[in-house]
Amino acid sequence: MTTWTEVADRVYARRYAELDLTVGLVVGDDGCLVIDTRGDLEQGAELAAAVREITPHPWAVVYTHAHFDHCFGTSAFPGAAVWAHRLCHKDMVEHGSDELRKWSERYRAEGKVSIADALDRTTLVMPTDLVDDRASLSVGGREVELVYVGLAHSSGDLLVHVPDARVLFVGDLVENGAPPQFGDSHPLSWPTALTTILDFDVVVVVPGHGDPIDQDFVADQREELRSIAELCRAVASDELSTEDALANSPYPADFTRTALERVLSTR
Ligand SMILES: [Zn+2]
Repeated sequence: MTTWTEVADRVYARRYAELDLTVGLVVGDDGCLVIDTRGDLEQGAELAAAVREITPHPWAVVYTHAHFDHCFGTSAFPGAAVWAHRLCHKDMVEHGSDELRKWSERYRAEGKVSIADALDRTTLVMPTDLVDDRASLSVGGREVELVYVGLAHSSGDLLVHVPDARVLFVGDLVENGAPPQFGDSHPLSWPTALTTILDFDVVVVVPGHGDPIDQDFVADQREELRSIAELCRAVASDELSTEDALANSPYPADFTRTALERVLSTR
């Protein structure tokens, strides 16, 4: 059964079997902030009910990035201000409807008909409050910072920092339990985002998939991402063959191949 884990004072993580997704919740004195909303209207409704088990306070939402599993459940949070990076907003406006259709078809092809049906009934909620480099929110009197890290896992990844609890939500910039996803990524600059993460004085880091981690885990993943960036750079400059890059990668071949394609397509 899915439950909330209180990772620090009134800061929660909630991990799901579906896609091993992890969402978050920060509760202040008279407001709360929901970090990502799951992938469709039914999943969003489940999350909204779970938030109401913790707090009756008015809610705001922040998207860590534009991927469907993190932000397509928001219609279950009526009236919420929705924070996101400006490029996350752009991505959702330009590609959100296509993503909705694509994932519905994919789930239907996998025989997961109830999720496909839920996606077909889902209305996207675009961000209402856009962040460029940084924003500071008061969540029921509690300070929460939103920080942009540059082009990394996607174009518009935001960190959500809760300074008084020393917790950082990082979306899919760091993955626990599976290799990072490179499909929309910028492999050459992604390691820099993890350097930004490592600069925060936090004790708990909550990834977008899998259990909470610490900064040692982030440092290890930065080394792997640096290795991927280096392999991509070498292949792009014809110093290394694709076969050698795949053989020397810290990640499985299909992940590495996707990273290479991302870099080669923008060469
Ligand atoms: Zn993602």
